[in-house]
Amino acid sequence: MHYVAPAGTPIAFSDLRRWLGGAPGKTAAMEAFREALMRRFQLAGCEFVSSGRAGLTLLLDTLHRLRGDPARTEVLIPAYTCYSVPASIERAGLRVRICDVNPETLDYDMARLEAFDCSRVLAILSANLYGIPNDLSAIETLARRRGIYMVDDAAQAMGATYADRAAGTFGDAGLFSLDKGKNITSMQGGILVTRSPDIASALRGRVGTLPPPASRDTIMQAAKMLVYAAMLHPGRYGLMRRLPFLGLGRTPYEVPSPLTRYSPLLGVMASILFTRLDTLGTERRANAQRIMDAVGGIPELTPITPPPGASPVYVRMPLLAQDQQTRDTMIRRLDEAGIGATGSYPTAIAEIPQLRPRLHPEDLDCPGARRVAEGMITLPTHPFLTEAHIRTMASVIRQNGHPVQTLADGTKS
Ligand SMILES: *Cc1c(COP(=O)(O)O)cnc(C)c1O
Repeated sequence: MHYVAPAGTPIAFSDLRRWLGGAPGKTAAMEAFREALMRRFQLAGCEFVSSGRAGLTLLLDTLHRLRGDPARTEVLIPAYTCYSVPASIERAGLRVRICDVNPETLDYDMARLEAFDCSRVLAILSANLYGIPNDLSAIETLARRRGIYMVDDAAQAMGATYADRAAGTFGDAGLFSLDKGKNITSMQGGILVTRSPDIASALRGRVGTLPPPASRDTIMQAAKMLVYAAMLHPGRYGLMRRLPFLGLGRTPYEVPSPLTRYSPLLGVMASILFTRLDTLGTERRANAQRIMDAVGGIPELTPITPPPGASPVYVRMPLLAQDQQTRDTMIRRLDEAGIGATGSYPTAIAEIPQLRPRLHPEDLDCPGARRVAEGMITLPTHPFLTEAHIRTMASVIRQNGHPVQTLADGTKS
């Protein structure tokens, strides 16, 4: 059945040929990739690791040592973000602190953030969810005033800018992810970036001590990449999503991910896709605009408002439904019509059962994040999305609760 993946980066046959052709020179290719990243993002340092999670754990541990204050054990994150973020903080031996979000922007609730007691906070993180930058200047200013680090988590926002400055480059250090469903992908991988020479040299030292990736794992991921390249197209994705080994669409709390270096073989693919980053951003942004035009003005759904001066890259198109029942019905009907809509992260961070017992009692009160977790719906924006898909989305959403025509009219009974 015809099915539009919730997110993804098309990998063409010509990319696979270049990838395999580039494999023998992979070490030099990775150095060129690093230099391209350093130039584009004007960095003092850029380190590759096995995943965004691994990178975040390593970065936070490095910042903790650099700071040299054992009392600074807390890491402040938005109350609605990727589950890998708190998992990485705990893995670094640090304590998760949470500040509520504004459901209209998905950014921190700035009044609450201003009032937050940062006396034990080591670092504050941004989230830039779905490729929409947070008010990164405001977070950066707050971090400076409080004397804490800011980590700009651009795992979903590579290529986005705020005030003409790239997401990932605000604050002291940043993070990009190369996992599935991010801006570009090599199935897994993480990139740590910084404009601080001190942090750059500390990170370089730490990454140098990591073990190389297990070759079995690299071969697994390379095989997955071939399947992904072949199956992301809507004509074939319906089959792919039934393959459990790809682990699509799951949100576990603890992701057992090895802290290792990045595989240069996977890196060759990331470096090829990196040359298309701006084109992908433009296409996803245009699709997000088309979706907005098609479903705009529907009272049950509110688009997320980017801050003024932001240029989002919309790795997905997030909309907030008026309540959970409306959201769940819309997602089910979109799914039946062959559109990969998702509810994104199932709960606010404070509601993750494995984490909750260790949270600060004051951090449990997050009405904004709870509202987002109940109402969030994401729609695909990737380049395989067509005008016909967008018409289907609009008709399903507009006829919410009523029978709708499916995407594959005539081919599906
Ligand atoms: C995906 C993601 C991460 C973790 O990256 P992985 O490469 O999947 O480990 C961190 N933060 C955010 C906001 C993410 O979306």
